[in-house]
Amino acid sequence: MIRTAAILSTGDELTTGRTVDTNSNFISDKLVAAGFDVVSIMVVGDYPERITWAWHEALRQADVAISTGGLGPTADDLTTETVAQLSGRRLILDTAVADRIRQMFEAMGRVMPENNLKQAQFPQSAEIIANALGTAPGFRLDLDTEHGRRHLIVLPGVPREMKPMLEEQVIPWLQQNRGSNDIYLSHVFQTFGISESALDELVADCVAADEGRIAFRAAFPQISVRLTVHGEPAVVPQRLEQLAARLRERIGTYAYGEGDTTMEATVGAMLKRKGLTLAVAESCTGGLVGNRITNVGGSSAYMRGGIIAYANDVKQQQLGVRSSTLETHGAVSEPTAVEMAVGVRQRLNADIGLSVTGIAGPDGGTPEKPVGTVCFGLATADKVFSRRYQLWGNREWVKLLASQVALDWVRRYLLGIDPMDSGILKR
Ligand code: ATP
Ligand code: MG
Repeated sequence: MIRTAAILSTGDELTTGRTVDTNSNFISDKLVAAGFDVVSIMVVGDYPERITWAWHEALRQADVAISTGGLGPTADDLTTETVAQLSGRRLILDTAVADRIRQMFEAMGRVMPENNLKQAQFPQSAEIIANALGTAPGFRLDLDTEHGRRHLIVLPGVPREMKPMLEEQVIPWLQQNRGSNDIYLSHVFQTFGISESALDELVADCVAADEGRIAFRAAFPQISVRLTVHGEPAVVPQRLEQLAARLRERIGTYAYGEGDTTMEATVGAMLKRKGLTLAVAESCTGGLVGNRITNVGGSSAYMRGGIIAYANDVKQQQLGVRSSTLETHGAVSEPTAVEMAVGVRQRLNADIGLSVTGIAGPDGGTPEKPVGTVCFGLATADKVFSRRYQLWGNREWVKLLASQVALDWVRRYLLGIDPMDSGILKR
């Protein structure tokens, strides 16, 4: 039976804070979605005794331990050696892997340094996990320990190489060897405008413990809700659908999408469906809204363009904001946001004009308009909306959150609900 997993990230770059450990995050997300229980995540530097300690812990705790990092050719890459030692296996050169590494070097017109052969050595009876994108393959080792049968899975540290190996080889193997017929299916809702705790309350009684599991994940600026159902293959798909329908109704318009989607993709799809075009006037977001919109392929169907109007005179000359408005209300005000939205809509000949003007910080705040004050505007042929928000966080955070609110305004407008209600609740 494989039910529990431990994740091990190795590398001095992780323990010294130079690199953020994103591998364990990715792996745990995939494992949980596949129905495995992740018991622990450990991070250790490149020292044999620390790596050995972490493996022993992992094997004590979980049926399967997955490690990343330390498969490189250099002296500080110790994973394979350490695993061989702690499992009492000899290292054996795999000639097919050695040939492949040599060929990869030849294809690049280089001679393989001898120490690269290290990457072709594996503990005896290990199953090799192919790496299509790099020189170091991973491997799996099955081991009988004092705690029971254990599976050691070793993957390279480079995220781009590790991810497809995990998804295409490791997860399918784990599912096939789970030792039960149960299947796990999940459905994800992407939400915005509600805090994690409020969301938790909102869906609390929606799904009973024996029906399925709900997990939240806050990946700023969105919070996703994952519903996972497991059981016999004959009943799970239908149960998932029923529970998802219940959640869909409960979460309502806080959900901007389902599955792997983004706010900008959702807004883009809606604009396209309705045959409407958009233009953006950005001050404090400095083009971030436009950038996000144009990150979506096919956005030329609805994106007219944008004007980054940072200085007051640019707001006046390029967007037609009146000097009297700026003098009376200031650049960060609802009247300015309205004139920016109206101006960009007219000048770029779009159906919808969207504007953002605010104080991202760390300087520039006043008692009346503290850092995080951001005003939004949305103009159409016959309507204008504007509202002032108090956002929070550092400069980057305020900009990102502001871009999310701006996009959410378009989504809400297109849904026929009041954009100004886009709730930003503090977390
Ligand atoms: P290589 O052949 O590149 O040496 P490797 O398997 O030895 O592969 P590492 O040397 O440990 O892997 O890491 C290679 C790079 O991958 C690191 O420089 C780092 O940028 C990235 N990396 C390693 N571990 C992680 C991790 N847990 N999260 C995110 N990035 C990581
Ligand atoms: Mg390393």
